[in-house]
Parts: sequence; C-alpha cells; structure tokens
Amino acid sequence: MIPYGRQTISNEDIEAVINVLKSDYLTQGPAVPTFEQAVCHSVNSQYAVAVNSGTSALHIACLALELGEDDWLWTSPNTFVASANCGLYCGAKVDFVDIDSQSYNLCAKKLEKKLIEAKANNRLPKIVIPVHFAGQSCDMKRIYELSQKYGFRIIEDASHAIGGEYKKQPVGNCQYSDITVFSFHPVKIITTGEGGMATTNSKNLARRMEMLRSHGITREQSEMSKEPDGDWYYQQSMLGFNYRMTDIQAALGCSQMAKLKEFINDRHALARRYVEQLAQLPVVIPLQNSDSISSYHLYPILLKLDEVTKTKRQIFSELRSKGVGVNVHYIPVHTQPYYQSLGFKLGDYPEAEAYYNSVITIPLFSGMTHQQQDYVVEQIKQVVRLG
Ligand SMILES: *Cc1c(COP(=O)(O)O)cnc(C)c1O
Repeated sequence: MIPYGRQTISNEDIEAVINVLKSDYLTQGPAVPTFEQAVCHSVNSQYAVAVNSGTSALHIACLALELGEDDWLWTSPNTFVASANCGLYCGAKVDFVDIDSQSYNLCAKKLEKKLIEAKANNRLPKIVIPVHFAGQSCDMKRIYELSQKYGFRIIEDASHAIGGEYKKQPVGNCQYSDITVFSFHPVKIITTGEGGMATTNSKNLARRMEMLRSHGITREQSEMSKEPDGDWYYQQSMLGFNYRMTDIQAALGCSQMAKLKEFINDRHALARRYVEQLAQLPVVIPLQNSDSISSYHLYPILLKLDEVTKTKRQIFSELRSKGVGVNVHYIPVHTQPYYQSLGFKLGDYPEAEAYYNSVITIPLFSGMTHQQQDYVVEQIKQVVRLG
C-alpha cells in the first residue's frame, strides 16, 4: 500500500537517537532546548516549548491564555478533533466557523459575520484557532485585525504547516497570533515519533507553557511565593501535567529539522507533477493562494461526482484495493457523535460538509518516487473513468 503520508528517516536520524541513548540524559537533558532553538530559528519566533504531542501543545496553549469555564473557543470544522477538544479540556465551550470553499480553511468573512452576531448576544470567543489546512496558511492578517476589533486571542494550529510561509514569512513566527502549535506525528512534515511544539513571542506565555508541561512546578527562586527550604526545593504554583518531550524524541527532531527545506521541496515537486497529471480528470486540485507557500502536508482532491458514475465510497475502496492508501481529511468535527451529543447537527456547517462529501486525500510524502506517483495517477484514472 502506498500510504497517504509517512516519515522519512535517514541514517543521521538513527545516529542522533543512538547518541542520546548512550548519553546521560534520556529526558530533561540538552537535546530538548537544542530542538527548541532549531525551531525558533527556522520559524523566526522568540520562544518555543517542546511537548509530547501537538494535542498537548494545544492544551497548554489554551491554558496559558487562561481559557476556562464560561469562555468560548472557536475553530474550523475541517480539522482533526484535537483542535476543538483542547477547548473542552479547559471546561470551555466550543463552536465552529465554516470553511472557505476554495482554500478549505476557516473563512475570515464567515468569522466576521459570526463575531458580529456573537457580540450582539454577548458570546464573543476568548480564543480562535485557525487551522492551516493541508499546510496552507489561513488569512492571518484579516483574522488578526478581527482579533483586535473583537478582543480575542489567536492560536494557530500549524500541525500541517511547519516549513510553510505566509506573506513571505515563516508560519510559526506569530506575527498575527499569540501562539502557534506544531505536531511531529510521523505523517506530518517532520517527526519525533510523537511530539509537538508551541512557539510564541511572549516571554510570559512561554514561561507559563514551560510550567504547564511539567506539573506547574518551578525551581526558579524568583518565581516562588516563599523562601526555599533549601537547595532541593521546588514549588508547585499551578496545576500542570507531564507533557514533556524526551531527549530521544528531541534529537530525532533536531536531525529532521536539518532536512525541513529538502522535505518541503520534495513535496512541492510532487505537487507540481500532480497538477499536470490530474489536469484532464474529473477532480478539483487544491487551490494555492498567491500570498502563501504551502508545506503540502496533504494532497486533498475533490471528486466531481456529477461527472462520474461511482460514489465516493466506491472510488475510495477501489483505490485502496489497488494499493493506493487514500484517506479522508477531515470528517467535519461537528458531525462526530461526541460533538452531536453537545448539540451540533448535520447541516450546521454546509461548506465543510459539502467538502467532506467529495474529498479524498491521495498519497504525498517526501521520498515518494515518481514511479509510485505515476501508479497512483494511473489507478485514479482507471477508477474514475471506468464504469
Ligand atoms: C495531527 C494534528 C493535531 C494533533 O497532533 P498530535 O501530535 O497527533 O497530537 C492537531 N491538529 C491538527 C490539524 C492535526 O493534523
């Protein structure tokens, strides 16, 4: 099966991990800050806090921004459930803003409309989480302007988007947000096995997230509310978690970061080939905005179902049976039974639902060969043309 995405691991990556295994520190050693520095440097942010998953990064980002009960968090319905769950972890209420039919990202116009209504009803969100779907940045400048007008904070869910650019700046520099979150799950652009990172330009937010990832404990005397009992003393001043990344993971992350540009270039080259090869088929290829450079985490295509005689279900299973590891990103979050139990209904976000009804993600990853790609295209041709 040719997967829709997978990691690329080199001998240097393996060496880097082995070196940590032979060293004194498997966790809380020097590899974590080195990895954090590498990400800061690459995305041009002042601070970075490494954690054990993208989901943990979203959770502590919400807590650092003091999201709590009675607050609202808004995000896109076209995302992985974690972008919304993080609000529920904090006891907040979650709502969604429908997507734009071209970029499949949270629509800034619909956001504005919803903000006007929310203001009238006294239900403005505390946090909005735009998700850079498939690696293409949302309209961050516009969303930032709205945040200034309506007084909400912004966490960019850039789980798909490390290595991408927006208005000639790297995604993650937080020019238009408080915090940006990345995921290093193996299907993402770079991997640490499991892992995540939150970047910010606020010293205060960075420090809060550092404490939240490690039990809410500090060893800094200046942060303690009383004199230490002795040199062994540490103080818990908030309720935190153990969300730490290990040095084993961080060493892999550092080694992977060194190849970020190469990975993105590979993905772009493959995406260009798809544009040519899919041109004559009854599918819509993902539109690219001129003010951003996608990291091409995913390659979602829309099936023109009125031009083919098969259903999406049939096309999907036929491709799988031919060894093409297609997938679907995403089942709209509000249609999940758990979210329906909170009161959301089918029909609430029609663009996300219409998109879901015709989308299939086809394989794209650094290290995919032209031969594999040609095979994928040939199978799509046969499946959508025949019968
Ligand atoms: C992968 C992903 C996450 C969660 O990241 P993990 O590292 O798997 O916890 C969150 N949001 C989006 C959009 C993702 O794709």
